[in-house]
Amino acid sequence: MYYFLLAILLLTIYVWQKFRRTRTWRPGHRALLVTAHPDDESLFFAPYLTRALQAGIQVHILCLSTGNADGLGSIRARELVQACAVFQVPEQRVRLVNDGALQDGFQAWDEGAVKARVAAALAAVRPHELVTFDAGGVSGHPNHTSIYAAVWRLVGCRGLSASQGDGHEGGVAGSDGSNRGSNRNGDSCCRICTLVTHPLPLKFTGVLGAALVLLLSSVRLHGRSADVRLHDSAADTALLLSSANPVVGLRAMWCHRSQFVWYRWLFVLFSTYTYVNQFRVIGAVTY
Ligand SMILES: [Zn+2]
Repeated sequence: MYYFLLAILLLTIYVWQKFRRTRTWRPGHRALLVTAHPDDESLFFAPYLTRALQAGIQVHILCLSTGNADGLGSIRARELVQACAVFQVPEQRVRLVNDGALQDGFQAWDEGAVKARVAAALAAVRPHELVTFDAGGVSGHPNHTSIYAAVWRLVGCRGLSASQGDGHEGGVAGSDGSNRGSNRNGDSCCRICTLVTHPLPLKFTGVLGAALVLLLSSVRLHGRSADVRLHDSAADTALLLSSANPVVGLRAMWCHRSQFVWYRWLFVLFSTYTYVNQFRVIGAVTY
């Protein structure tokens, strides 16, 4: 038993170190993280944000509601700004939406309203990468899954199919010298990365679950070089980011004090998402 645990630990450290070095954002890279509620960024996307912070990526956050289900919207708005500051995302890069059609609650959001807000943010930020939930929304919350549904529609309705891939490798360098892609019409485009919803046994097993995610993904991606793994323009490409420092995410979560109940602390400590984010590239969107 002792040797088995030691072997798991060593293997985990090996894979962890391997993935720590594989993410290769480029200078000037901009990313737009789209979430549903204040605290989503800390609960689910902390590994992404800490790695982006480490790499000097300019991250913008679009939060589509104030999280006013319990009448705490104004408090949660302030908490969001404080949490984003922990990830060194300044207030001017945080867009908090308070729209009657997009209120916090256990119901699906109007697709047109979500699309309009995301499209406006894309035009304003002009990111290289849009990051959001996948179809499972991590927790299955309908506000989360509504974002995925709307973003997927954006991919489909802007004339660029998922199989046409990301704007980094297939596109032309932007006029500002950046690596932002463009299609044949000269529109800018960015790739869409969705956070993989893990099955329940992987979701709440903390560091062990994170190790399993890393190991299983390593096996699945065996034989592909790191560059291919991270820049392949094909849809459904897997991306993995282990947290450079899980404490940063915990500090950010500490800012969301109005949400502190015992089960949320348990979630943070035992959630795989505190330690590892796995993404899938589902395509690209033009703006
Ligand atoms: Zn949420």
